[in-house]
Amino acid sequence: MHLCTRAEHDFFSFDLNMELCFNREVENTAYIALGSNLGDREMNLLRAVTEIARIPGTRVTGLSHFYETSPVGFKDQPPFNNAVLRISTGLSPGDLLLSLQRIEDEVFKRKRGVMNGPRTMDLDILLYNDLMLESENLVIPHPEMTRRRFVLQPLNDIAPDAVHPASRRNISAILASLESDESVTKI
Ligand code: AMP
Repeated sequence: MHLCTRAEHDFFSFDLNMELCFNREVENTAYIALGSNLGDREMNLLRAVTEIARIPGTRVTGLSHFYETSPVGFKDQPPFNNAVLRISTGLSPGDLLLSLQRIEDEVFKRKRGVMNGPRTMDLDILLYNDLMLESENLVIPHPEMTRRRFVLQPLNDIAPDAVHPASRRNISAILASLESDESVTKI
């Protein structure tokens, strides 16, 4: 058993660390964006954190505040709740994506309809170490992350100094220079 870092969100630190201490040794740092605008959005985020913590070889090492945010793109839908998680994982980026999609499909019964439309849970890989990857089904860093306040604001809570490997700028600098009329309010 390895020592666990206390999760940054006090509410989770006890349960998550108890569970995650039994996961095997992990080595890669990744940031995951969580979003929900159907059902009990806050409960959905909490459930997603718990489910991600249960992915084999993975532990949660940071959790942002939760935010209520205005929809981007397809505007005629309810507001979202968003958050960002930091994990340590032994999974490859592709296996991590499969695990996240399994949570979206099996736990949240996500129905894929309108692009950027309503969803019980959306899980995106933002960063994975300093990897830059472009494959048919996976792009890292997430291509939209530098344009979205609902991603950058929570990411800045837990990783202001993380460097976006494509732009070589850190998250706090990217957020500070962002021009966007999105509403992003801490819950
Ligand atoms: P979404 O509607 O945001 O859930 O988009 C899901 C699609 O985006 C899936 O088909 C993924 O294969 C693809 N995708 C590409 N890059 C990423 C990423 N970094 N994280 C999550 N999904 C991604």
